[in-house]
Amino acid sequence: MTAPETAPQILYPLGDPIGSVALVQWAGDDKMIVNAARVSFGGDTKAPLNDRDERLIRYLLRHGHGSPFEHNLITFKIVCPIFVDRQLVRHRVGVSKNEISGRYVELAERNFTPASFRKQAPSNRQASVEDDGTLDQAAAARVWEEAWQHAYRAYQDLLALGVTREQARGVLPLSLYTESYYTFNLRSLLHFLELRDHAGAQWETRRYARALAELAEPLFPVTFREWRALRGG
Ligand SMILES: Cc1cc2nc3c(=O)[nH]c(=O)nc-3n(C[C@H](O)[C@H](O)[C@H](O)COP(=O)(O)OP(=O)(O)OC[C@H]3O[C@@H](n4cnc5c(N)ncnc54)[C@H](O)[C@@H]3O)c2cc1C
Repeated sequence: MTAPETAPQILYPLGDPIGSVALVQWAGDDKMIVNAARVSFGGDTKAPLNDRDERLIRYLLRHGHGSPFEHNLITFKIVCPIFVDRQLVRHRVGVSKNEISGRYVELAERNFTPASFRKQAPSNRQASVEDDGTLDQAAAARVWEEAWQHAYRAYQDLLALGVTREQARGVLPLSLYTESYYTFNLRSLLHFLELRDHAGAQWETRRYARALAELAEPLFPVTFREWRALRGG
């Protein structure tokens, strides 16, 4: 299926022209969820979605009846820093992934550099807080850039020495961009969004979660409307 003309096809979550989420393909719609739920009593139909169907979607979401949402699939091409991908790949159920291989190809010089640096949160040991003006942003950017340049040069030097790609990549940083196809079913996507479009999630990963939601929402508008309403808007 091709996306509705109004739907965005590609988004750039990190504000640079490399990191991106593209909608590749999808299967199903809100009606598929209703039919999957009603097939148990032979109530599935080809009729357009109606108010009763919308109420059923709300009921299914509210009561955690997840399986009817598993028949809808969405494939994204995601270009993200390795440290973001390490969080995406933790979502094991209902998510399929294939990634570029640094054993097959020489990895391109694609580095994510934060537009601004954050500070360690004082209470939550995993979290970050905005700079309160005490961080030397220019110095942090310089250190980051020098580390990247040094590492990527070392990678190229190792390749020039004849070292195999699968070993040479070991010197590359987590800020290197990687790219994958990710296919979620709608249930697994909503679960992912609950965890990763959340105040407790890393800012960069949250940006990706929001991009996935923005691309998926026009394809399943009733499901997203009811899911958002359930979560308080
Ligand atoms: C804010 C945040 C911080 C995190 N911090 C860390 C961290 O510090 N270290 C770390 O290692 N991870 C961390 N994680 C990853 C987290 O522990 C989960 O691995 C990740 O969020 C995927 O969630 P999930 O297991 O629910 O998803 P999925 O793997 O997609 O699983 C979906 C659901 O299937 C069921 N399920 C899946 N596998 C099993 C199983 N083996 N047995 C029983 N039921 C199963 C569960 O109900 C699960 O919720 C963090 C995640 C978040 C959102």
